[in-house]
Amino acid sequence: MTSLDELPLRDDLRGLTPYGAPQAPLPVALNVNENTHPVPEGVARDILDDISVALREVNRYPDREFTALREGFARYLGHGLDRDQIWAGNGSNEVLQHILQAFAGPGRTAFGFGPTYSMYPLLSQGTGARWVAGARGDDYRISAASAAEQVARADPDVVILCAPNNPTGTPLGLDVVEAVYDAARGVVIVDEAYQEFAPRTAPSALTLLPGRPRLAISRTMSKAFAFAGARVGYLAADPAFIDALRLVRLPYHLSALTQAAATAALRNSGTMLQMVDEIVVQRDRMSAALSGLGYLPHESWSNFVLFGGVSDPRGVWQALYDRGVLIRDVGIPDHLRVTAGTESETTAFLDALASVGSAA
Ligand code: PMP
Repeated sequence: MTSLDELPLRDDLRGLTPYGAPQAPLPVALNVNENTHPVPEGVARDILDDISVALREVNRYPDREFTALREGFARYLGHGLDRDQIWAGNGSNEVLQHILQAFAGPGRTAFGFGPTYSMYPLLSQGTGARWVAGARGDDYRISAASAAEQVARADPDVVILCAPNNPTGTPLGLDVVEAVYDAARGVVIVDEAYQEFAPRTAPSALTLLPGRPRLAISRTMSKAFAFAGARVGYLAADPAFIDALRLVRLPYHLSALTQAAATAALRNSGTMLQMVDEIVVQRDRMSAALSGLGYLPHESWSNFVLFGGVSDPRGVWQALYDRGVLIRDVGIPDHLRVTAGTESETTAFLDALASVGSAA
């Protein structure tokens, strides 16, 4: 069999490891921050109606500008946004890739504060750019002053701020976004994949968009909307920023079926988002129970909890796996990460963990 080393692969890709969260068919899968609630039945029927209409026209290419979908996202996001300020892709991973293709690339750098979402370095390196990791302070927080100082020193072409941060769940103040924007020469992305799970009173970085043409806020339907399998992510930015992304996207990158499904799901956003409150309840229940078991859960504004005090993360991960519960070892020493599930999944996780034993 041919090995990768024998192929004329780009030198800068040699030695890299692809994204590879385990996909194991276990009864309780709480490892990739999905919404574990299925799409509500009435909404599923409405989405299917629209897909079946779209299917009758799949002999033609879809609307390259996905106009109806962009209007749906503008309405959903509010903040006076207009469809000219909206972009979308097959997951926010693709949206981030478009940004990096347009603004990073060979000889350029992309920057973020680690530990953060593991795809940022991979997506950056995929465009030929160099990933530079900045440092966080206590409990993974970042102060505006430290963030601005680190960004000014690194002088990157792209900054990605994950808010709330994956895999730690840490909130990020808008003062940090403002300070980083002022300190940066390049574009600044705020990845709000988990924003719907933050307290309702927490303002989105969308409020900072006016007058900041180098700022973009990315979101996804994979988490709050329970739409991970449909692959839909989106962003809001200045119309000129959106024009830059048109230079790198593939023609017709959003299929007619994806556009129909996402537009119908957005029309039902009220029902789709009812699950968010329940997930937040389970997340907080998980944190409290983890503390009760002697673990050290970090504050989370997302749909998952990172917890410390795990003396043998690999062993605990395996013991849970053997009990039918899949969580995530994100490679942070003494820590594991778990997604908030339904009430019964959360109970299954907590019972399994209690049976493994308390923290050392
Ligand atoms: N950003 C963050 C912070 C994430 O955690 C994820 C998924 N885990 C994504 C982006 C990508 O999500 P998707 O491509 O499904 O929209």
